[in-house]
Amino acid sequence: MSGTKTNETSNIRGLVCVNCGAKYPDGTALTCPRCGIDEGILDVEFDVQAARQTLTRQALALREPAQWRYRELLPVASGAHPTPPQIGWTPILEAPRLAQALGIRRLRLKDDGRSASGSFKDRPSAVAVTRAMAEGYREVACASTGNAASSLAHCAAVAGLRANIFVPARVPQGKLAQLLAYGARVFKVEGTYDEAWRLCMAACERFGWYNRNCAVNPYLVEGKKTGGLEIAEQCADDPPDWISVSVGDGCSIAGVWKGIREMREVGITDWTARMLGVQAHGVAPIAAAFTTGRLDRSKTGGDTYADSINCPVPRNWRKAVNAVRESGGRFVTVTDEEIREAVRQTGRLSGVFAEPAAATAVAGVAAARRAGVIGADSSVVVVISGNGLKDLAGALSAIGEPFTVPPDLDAVARHLGED
Ligand SMILES: *Cc1c(COP(=O)(O)O)cnc(C)c1O
Repeated sequence: MSGTKTNETSNIRGLVCVNCGAKYPDGTALTCPRCGIDEGILDVEFDVQAARQTLTRQALALREPAQWRYRELLPVASGAHPTPPQIGWTPILEAPRLAQALGIRRLRLKDDGRSASGSFKDRPSAVAVTRAMAEGYREVACASTGNAASSLAHCAAVAGLRANIFVPARVPQGKLAQLLAYGARVFKVEGTYDEAWRLCMAACERFGWYNRNCAVNPYLVEGKKTGGLEIAEQCADDPPDWISVSVGDGCSIAGVWKGIREMREVGITDWTARMLGVQAHGVAPIAAAFTTGRLDRSKTGGDTYADSINCPVPRNWRKAVNAVRESGGRFVTVTDEEIREAVRQTGRLSGVFAEPAAATAVAGVAAARRAGVIGADSSVVVVISGNGLKDLAGALSAIGEPFTVPPDLDAVARHLGED
């Protein structure tokens, strides 16, 4: 990847290493040279005072309903063509019956399952494709268990770029079908996710592809930030106490928090909310790091059926831990059985069909409520990060079987009231 500077007209002030605090000018590094690729994750800093001049409530009222409405806080040059143009601005849905079941006063769902390719990952992928086009790339690549890949393939198809995707052998069929439907070149890697990741890194280097990878491409997290910017704007006059986000690699929750914080810094809101990070019990290295302050790299044995957050070696753990700490929030873990229950409850009580990793954030609210972390009088926003149709096997294992009946009315009558 080249270090070409393409942001002359954006408000980026520079890059900061989340590990050692070293600062670098925009465009000069992707990871901190001092700390290395595993620890030296960079964070993009914006000139918020400059953004304030034009990013106002009045200005926003006139802008398009897409994540690009926050261009002052995004790493795209003002002359760039945001592609796809319509990513973002997903709805916030009231879910009173689900709130009641979880034992809280108010629940709103930020439903990114309705995004173009069905997940929150469309946000960073659109930033990746927009930047790749501005820098003159013809091909993009990523290694992913699913949503990062399907979103990149979608955005590349809109832009007319070739997508090269490295998936682990265990990718759910729905996500694989999306990749092929969007015309991506798909490499199913016979190995672990980490091996697929390293292979993709090497391929980007060798073949000159744009690398869509949040760990080595700090600009992408700014796409995830738009989830937080939107929650802040959509709830501006009616803030939640908590925002619940499921956590795999860690950059989604870090991005959402950054968006909430920056909306206060630019003066559009005067509040922040506490972040609830939710991990699956079997794969919870960031929840553990939240307590101990460091990542235990020796524990990689666990498992969860929520494939999108099955991330035993997270690269953005420090960003996630810092975000949740700064917000005054907490981490909780939930079992696969609790996740299945949340898939069922969310569908039945709110009409939103969430993939397991998305329902994890709902399960986390239930767990946090039971533990007394979240009070009964609380108002919570849950990020629904992916659509249930992406992983039908996972969904069906949670929601059960239909009634099989002969074409006979009495047979139907016998089943009434059973569900
Ligand atoms: C990627 C993903 C997450 C977690 O995001 P991280 O940045 O990896 O923490 C949660 N839910 C879904 C559906 C995802 O695809």
